[in-house]
Amino acid sequence: MNKIKNVNYFMTRVITLSYRSLYFTCFGNKKEEMVNHNEKQSPDYARISSATTISLGLSKGRFYRGAKNRCANLLVHYPEGCAANCAYCGLAKRRIGSYSQKTFIMVQWPIFPIDTIIEAINNGPQYVRRTCISMITNGRCRRDTIDMTERLKKETKIPISILISPTVLKVDDLKEMKESGADKIGIAIDLATPELFDRYRGKGVSGPHTWERYWQTVVDGIEIFGKGNVGIHLMVGMGESEEEIVSIMERSWNIGAVNHLFSFFAEPGSTLENRKQPSWPSYLRVQLTRYLLEERSISASSMGFDKDGHIIDFGLPKDDISEIINLGIPFMTGGCLDQDGEVACNRPFGNCLPGEKQWNYPYLPNAEELSLIQSHIFKISPD
Ligand code: SF4
Repeated sequence: MNKIKNVNYFMTRVITLSYRSLYFTCFGNKKEEMVNHNEKQSPDYARISSATTISLGLSKGRFYRGAKNRCANLLVHYPEGCAANCAYCGLAKRRIGSYSQKTFIMVQWPIFPIDTIIEAINNGPQYVRRTCISMITNGRCRRDTIDMTERLKKETKIPISILISPTVLKVDDLKEMKESGADKIGIAIDLATPELFDRYRGKGVSGPHTWERYWQTVVDGIEIFGKGNVGIHLMVGMGESEEEIVSIMERSWNIGAVNHLFSFFAEPGSTLENRKQPSWPSYLRVQLTRYLLEERSISASSMGFDKDGHIIDFGLPKDDISEIINLGIPFMTGGCLDQDGEVACNRPFGNCLPGEKQWNYPYLPNAEELSLIQSHIFKISPD
């Protein structure tokens, strides 16, 4: 294992992270090591999200409205980085800058020794209820992810998800991941149609990923991990219609996967850095249909869409829909569950700026936020 230098880093300086200071203020890492990033790599090291450094006490900070980050999000790390080139991803190979400086889902992911991460999880707050290891597209990642999972399983008490990279995995790898201690996997299908997938992750960007391989891995994953234990990441705002995303959510739910929604939120320096977020009403409608499909067994065929694919009928009387909206739950972040069946992966402000209007609430929306949702959700034109 590489030699580690522990230093106090920026302890006295309040770091204001450009606009991200709006959703959390970070007071500096206590233990981030200042050795050459090229010396640090998985499985001895991993990157962790800035939000995770705060919730695990590795840096000081607070979230807008007291939101709590309930999942320890780890990212496998190698100096050479990810071989894929997804148009919206901060880690894409073609994105300018050294790999260790690249952001992912808009934030920095500082590197820590796995020993420090395990210790922090064991001493972390009760509300941190799951660990997730995100793979990248790198041939070394398969073995190291399994090794890290084994260590986390043996040395921590919270369940472990792996956000897998199907392109570098075979069926036996999924079996080994389960045996090593992961109880759930996530698969970032991200795009709602094969054409969009190919344009933004496949041939369109000279990338290695294929729609067929990703979906075959979903099917294999359900077989190995069981129904309800494979989560599909889907990103709204990539040029799909609402009808198309509802259709793909129904497809994955019907085969035994669960849908975890994300909103496109441009990563600076990525190919799509100038693309806008999806309209808020549109995202709210998709969130509500996910809830209706998965929690109320309302099928897409009983919903109605206009000629452009906007959802104009949710398949229930308006009063019932209004009541369901007032629950607030449909608009909360969806992600892997904890051992009590509550969402553990709540990714505070992972795909939007803070404020009353959020594209995934990391907590139950309050009365003010619910009233805004009620007044916007049926608007068809962008707000
Ligand atoms: S939903 Fe969260 S915990 Fe689950 S695989 Fe995706 S990122 Fe990981």
